[in-house]
Order: sequence, then C-alpha cells, then structure tokens
Amino acid sequence: MGTSFKLVVDGHCDTLTAAPGQSRDIGQLSRHGQLDLPRMINGGVNVQIFAAFISPRFKDWALKKCLEYIDSFYMLMEKNKDTIEPAFNAGGIKAITGAGKIAALLAVEGGEALTGDLSVLRMLHRLGVRSITLTWNGRNELGDGVGEGDIAGGLSLFGRSVVREMNRLDMLVDVSHLSEKGFWDVASVSEQPFAATHANCYALCDHPRNLTDAQIEHLTKTGGVVGLSFVPAFVHPTKPDLEAFIGHIDHIASRFGIKCIALGSDFDGMDEYLPGLESADCLPQLAEELLARGYSYDNVSDIMGGNWMRLLEKVLK
Ligand SMILES: [Zn+2]
Repeated sequence: MGTSFKLVVDGHCDTLTAAPGQSRDIGQLSRHGQLDLPRMINGGVNVQIFAAFISPRFKDWALKKCLEYIDSFYMLMEKNKDTIEPAFNAGGIKAITGAGKIAALLAVEGGEALTGDLSVLRMLHRLGVRSITLTWNGRNELGDGVGEGDIAGGLSLFGRSVVREMNRLDMLVDVSHLSEKGFWDVASVSEQPFAATHANCYALCDHPRNLTDAQIEHLTKTGGVVGLSFVPAFVHPTKPDLEAFIGHIDHIASRFGIKCIALGSDFDGMDEYLPGLESADCLPQLAEELLARGYSYDNVSDIMGGNWMRLLEKVLK
C-alpha cells in the first residue's frame, strides 16, 4: 500500500488519557477514537509518542493521575506485546521496529506531575518517561503556558532546573503549550536540541499554540523539530483541511528547509477532525500527496519520521 518509508514517527497523541478512568484497548479498531493498533498498522506508523496528559482539573493530584496513566501505558503494552513495545532510547526504537513492531515512547504532558520536585522527575524517568511537555496552557511550577496570554512569563527557576536535569537524564524537552518567553528560556538553558511535539506555524494560522517563524528558525538551527499537529484550529482559522495542513509544510520548507518538519498528530486530543487526516491510517495519503507535489522521496521520508529519528537519536542516547 503506497510508498514505504524508513520509519514513520508520530510525536504526540492523547490516546492514553482519551478515555478517563479506563484506557481504551488500542488493540481493537476503535469506533470513536483516532488511533489504535489496526489504524497504526494501516498507516505504517513505526514509532508513537504517547502522552500522559495531566488535565488542569487534576491539579491537586497530578502525580497520582500521572502514575495511573503510566500504569495504563504498561497495561496496554503488555496486552498488545506482539505488536507494540515500549522503547526507552534510540537503540530500543531500532531493535523494536527492526523486529517489525511499533515502538512506543512514554511522555508526560504537563509538568504539574513533578509536584515541584526534581526527585519526582528522576523517578518518572526510572518509570520510563522520556519526554515532558513542560506546561499545558496555564501556569504551573515550571513556568507559564500560552493560555496566560500577554502577561505570560517564561520559565521559573524550578523550570530551568527541570530542563537542566532532563538534559542530564537524556530526556526530550517538549515546548508545546509553553509561552513564547518560556520557549526562549528553554532555548537559552537547554544544552540539547528540543521539540515542539504538536504545534504549527503562527504565520499561517495565528493561534497562540502555534510557533512564530523565529521559533521555527531556532528549532531548525539547533536540530530540534516541530511536530505538525492535525488539530483543525491550529491548521487554519476558517478552512482547515489537508491542503491547509500541507501549507504549513510548504511554509517551513521554503523558509528554513525541511530538517525540522515532523509529525505530531495530537490524535485523540481533539474534538474536531482535520478532513483528510482524521486518523492514524490516513498518514500514507499525506505522504503520497507530498510526493505528488514534488517533494523528493528523501524529503518526505524525513518529514514522515527521519527528522524525528535524528532528534531522538541525539537526545535519547
Ligand atoms: Zn497538547
């Protein structure tokens, strides 16, 4: 089915937390969800980052929710171990995908889970967490999210120490949802390249969750990636569709080259779906469309996963 690429990587989904209280069995084709193993196999997905999203409504028991989601992650892995396996570093990703299985990486979305304590970060790392989205839209102990608007500050002192400790632990820093000031604080503190796992171009769609050209340029220069998201509101203010989504790829490619362009679907994290990219099995159509528009095989391969792999190999040693 269609062209095959080296590795297809999706940098973000909310599948772990899409069904509160119980994790959906990703082994079955889901009637309501956007991502499950049958769809990932049809979509040719080789590597998936699963986020444990700590909703603001769990603020007072963020760490407990986080541990519940981590438990769900491993229960799902155990139940579906013939098809998908957790990976903890680049070598693991290669071994798992080389054996024909999907490699799953565990992330936490919302630094609230750290409860302001670096020892919790280190324990989450020991539990297999390899990436943390420092904030969601609001303020937490690490810093301010984009939802704080014009008055948003950057990283707190604790947030800076989290970035340094994540560098030391070989964890991937995710700046999605973080305020612009926070982004530049990460840029000045982090000694490793970092990612916006799910965000798009502000120049094309002026949503606060999207990245300015200066941010995208920085990610390109430092070896980071932008995982372009399929959330309609981040793609186009009035006419979100596959065409508009590819516009974001064209925008970055024409200004900064393709090295930071990657995927971060946000499947199971949206209420409205992007026509043409409704679920994980749609990814081959995206690749075919890029090839049809004149992107080379190597460029499409990098966009579909090569750029993610370069960053993961650098950071998740
Ligand atoms: Zn998110």
